[in-house]
Amino acid sequence: MAKTVDVPVPDIGDFEDVDVIEVLVSPGDAINKDDSLITLESEKATMEVPSPHAGTIKEVKVGVGDRVSEGDLIATMEVAGAEAGEEQPGAGAQTPEAEGEAQPSGTGAEAPGAQAAAAESTAGEHGTEVLVLGAGPGGYSAAFRAADLGKRVTLVERYPSLGGVCLNVGCIPSKALLHVGQVLEEAAQMKDWGVRLGEPEIDTDQLRSWKDGVVNQLTSGLRQLAKRRGVDVIQGTGRFVGPHRLAVESDDETTVVAFEHAIVAAGARAIQLPGFPHDDPRVMDSTAALEVEEIPGRLLVVGGGIIGMEMATLYQALGSRVTVVELSDALIPGADRDIVKPLQKRAQSGYDALYLNTQVTALDADEQGLTAHLEGPKAPETARFDRVLVAVGRHPNSDRIGAAEAGLELDDQGLIPVDEQMRSNVGHIFAIGDIVAGPQLAHKASHEGKVAAEVIAGLRSGFEGRVIPSVAYTDPEVAWVGLTEGQAKEQGIDYGKGSFPWAASGRSLSFGRNEGVTKLLFDRESGRLLGAGIVGPYAGELIAEAALAIEMGADARDIGLTIHPHPTLSETVGMAAEAFEGTITDLYIPKR
Ligand SMILES: Cc1cc2nc3c(=O)[nH]c(=O)nc-3n(C[C@H](O)[C@H](O)[C@H](O)COP(=O)(O)OP(=O)(O)OC[C@H]3O[C@@H](n4cnc5c(N)ncnc54)[C@H](O)[C@@H]3O)c2cc1C
Repeated sequence: MAKTVDVPVPDIGDFEDVDVIEVLVSPGDAINKDDSLITLESEKATMEVPSPHAGTIKEVKVGVGDRVSEGDLIATMEVAGAEAGEEQPGAGAQTPEAEGEAQPSGTGAEAPGAQAAAAESTAGEHGTEVLVLGAGPGGYSAAFRAADLGKRVTLVERYPSLGGVCLNVGCIPSKALLHVGQVLEEAAQMKDWGVRLGEPEIDTDQLRSWKDGVVNQLTSGLRQLAKRRGVDVIQGTGRFVGPHRLAVESDDETTVVAFEHAIVAAGARAIQLPGFPHDDPRVMDSTAALEVEEIPGRLLVVGGGIIGMEMATLYQALGSRVTVVELSDALIPGADRDIVKPLQKRAQSGYDALYLNTQVTALDADEQGLTAHLEGPKAPETARFDRVLVAVGRHPNSDRIGAAEAGLELDDQGLIPVDEQMRSNVGHIFAIGDIVAGPQLAHKASHEGKVAAEVIAGLRSGFEGRVIPSVAYTDPEVAWVGLTEGQAKEQGIDYGKGSFPWAASGRSLSFGRNEGVTKLLFDRESGRLLGAGIVGPYAGELIAEAALAIEMGADARDIGLTIHPHPTLSETVGMAAEAFEGTITDLYIPKR
């Protein structure tokens, strides 16, 4: 029997008297459980309040501009009798749990049989044209593009917060925190210029809550974008139970989604090292490190790739004494050595230690700290740390989605092989993002997502990007795109090089930095840009020009004759092209 129930503002953490900035429902609206009712905005965050019930809105009790706190009435609703007894979720449930839950690689453990659960207690069948599994940058882009192209779309995500690793525990929180690190570094540097700001005091709780606010603003925005497009969002863990069916398990029920097409965008998780005490909270993955529970005195970072070095940059700026251990002979494998060198130099002088060609063979925990056992030419046999961050790569989540039940083939790394239309071996199932081959980057995932959606909608689309830029948001930043010099040499490509040292850039010197370099590689015959490597503050902002130039088939003349504003770091791109052309006046390059 239908019943009228009050819907109050749930527990919204420490917030009180928060502004209502949007009312998303009106009397008479039929809504599903978890559909957003209103949007609240505090100084720190924007959050949507989900409906605790499915039913029909009778009366809306708040308006835009009102201020509300926990317990204030939002609306009254008519709900079916059984629904009315349900517990109300708090707004805190919008925050995703730690992404971690990684397990030793190779265990292949699966979530408990969703197939069996589907057979036993199926709450409902749900039909859709396009099912998207995973709401990271790949999944939400795919879902939104498919909806914009007229498809009925269901997006399945295990966490209440949309946005995947990137928005919740990856790109965005790391950059928010790295900005704080950059300001701290710059403030410290000011003493050389006659400005003393004193020792910084870091309140980790406030730092975390600021970072969470940035994340919240973006993830709640995504919910609205999904709602506006009519994308059905189901929260729960999805697992294929057949080539056209996915069982979604949530706390209390299993829903089976029958689909015409599926896009698998389930991402990847941090790899754990066998034998390491990963249960010890002092042994962190990147998700835990981004919580900044404390600023450890001595931090060991295992892995000198992009994620490891970004975390090393952050914690060093916050005041930790950092040691980095990297297995290969250089940091940031993938980028050219000369481009990484300024970062390596800064690490060597600013960190406690940087050990290359070195392995952490074991890690022992005791009450006072952690002992790392090291094997490498310059490393001691053991070293003591207060915390350890393990950043040694990410494993695709394909072992947890019932791939075999859908008929999906995996390669030996657990990736789903796809063609340039992102189509798997099963014709109506597509896969994108970190779960397929290629760099594990958000912008790659979102481009692939759009391709998959467009192909499903019948457009002639394919992944045609010539290049995918990579950026390490370290200090200094390292960015590269297209062919590296190492690859050019390996492949015997006849290339020419134009480099511009930032020691000659007025803009770079004006903020006290001179170690940057912009390097462009050109095809000697056609003069076209093949690749670029840039190191220096804000290199990540500069690399897009090189990516565009490569996509447009620009040559050195095009880039050199493009008038860049002065004084900017972007000039270094134009000047590197001029250096290749031999027309540069800001450097003296003797004629060969
Ligand atoms: C610390 C860190 C910093 C990073 N910084 C950057 C950066 O600056 N720039 C950049 O480009 N990239 C960065 N990345 C990488 C970037 O986050 C990933 O490449 C990107 O998130 C991949 O997107 P995706 O859509 O493939 O998968 P994900 O973002 O991993 O999303 C997958 C989603 O699927 C969900 N899911 C998985 N299995 C299931 C299931 N069975 N049922 C329901 N839901 C499921 C997950 O909960 C998740 O939300 C960073 C990563 C980390 C860890």
